[in-house]
Amino acid sequence: MTSIDQHHGFATRAVHAGQAFDPTTGAVIPPVHLTSTYVQDGIGGLRGGYEYSRGGNPTRTALETQLAALEGGTHGLSFASGLAAEDALLRAVLAPGDHVVIGNDVYGGTHRLINRIHGAWGIRHSTVDTSDLDAVRAAIEPATKVLWVETPSNPLMKISDVAALVALGHEAGALVVVDNTFASPALQQPLALGADVVVHSTTKYLGGHSDVVGGALVTSDDELEEQVRFIQFAAGAVSAPFDAFLTSRGIKTLALRMRQHSGSAQQIAETVFDHPALTRVLYPGLASHPGHALAASQMSGFGGMLTLDFAGGAEAARKFAETTSLFQLAESLGGVESLVNYPSEMTHASVKGTPAEVPESIVRLSVGVEETSDLVADVVEALDRL
Ligand SMILES: *Cc1c(COP(=O)(O)O)cnc(C)c1O
Repeated sequence: MTSIDQHHGFATRAVHAGQAFDPTTGAVIPPVHLTSTYVQDGIGGLRGGYEYSRGGNPTRTALETQLAALEGGTHGLSFASGLAAEDALLRAVLAPGDHVVIGNDVYGGTHRLINRIHGAWGIRHSTVDTSDLDAVRAAIEPATKVLWVETPSNPLMKISDVAALVALGHEAGALVVVDNTFASPALQQPLALGADVVVHSTTKYLGGHSDVVGGALVTSDDELEEQVRFIQFAAGAVSAPFDAFLTSRGIKTLALRMRQHSGSAQQIAETVFDHPALTRVLYPGLASHPGHALAASQMSGFGGMLTLDFAGGAEAARKFAETTSLFQLAESLGGVESLVNYPSEMTHASVKGTPAEVPESIVRLSVGVEETSDLVADVVEALDRL
């Protein structure tokens, strides 16, 4: 097998980067290293640099190599969850008194982490609509060290201009972070648009099968990598070997899953966008979406997430969420099975009463890879029953 680099296409990197066959046995799939520690050849005589699995494990290294290759970065770091990855990054780059600018509809857990955990240690933050560049410019202060971007945003599917935000952030000396969970690297590559670091909840599209929780950071900044690697080792929120294996296995089919997720989401959006039970269908693949042109320019597909806004308000939204059959009512997203979520009481319950609060009239769909016609029928039937 030739070595895998950025000259190879995305799908090739997803299958092969970090995933070379086992040289001892020829096993096509590299072994899962379920070990906590490593025998030393004399004191300090480490084989391959491995000493203790909090510091490094070959199965995690394999995933980290794969993650870096997917995002076109030089360093990948894998964590026990998306929030563990975010926490390690924030701890690495912030000190008391620093300020963070985040989107006003970021993932609820990101808001909670910055507001309640880091806030208690003297980190201040402002929430802003990151699709509005003037608003972002106004929110940046001299103490702003991080500009945190999520696009498409969750759950309102707003599209933010990554390259323009990078320019704004860098002008102010801030680190620009993109949470790329919703798009996945198959559809959007923030490092190529100038971002300093990409964050993932690998629980979602990268793992792709709703069977593992994990998170990742990817960067090409050597100094940043060193700082975050130290926190990863010293604070210890690493991914376990079996979790790393499951994530690597999921990643191998990412390119084809994203095509299917995107195609079905587009079909659903086009079918229901003028349904009388809805006031809005928020999907960047619709020409009517305010971020459509921008999404078409910075993404290579529109993804599998869409949000419906109900004319009948909270009551209709809740009824719909409890009525679909293939779309199962659950938090999370990005798996092969379709899910429906009522953000204001589920994924975004923690931001109620804050500036990041989401409307009670919306429902978020994570479109799976079941037969497209079955998914369309499920949504239409539940809408018709309202
Ligand atoms: C789920 C999610 C996270 C948090 O990841 P966990 O793996 O649940 O810790 C962060 N950002 C986005 C956009 C998410 O959807």
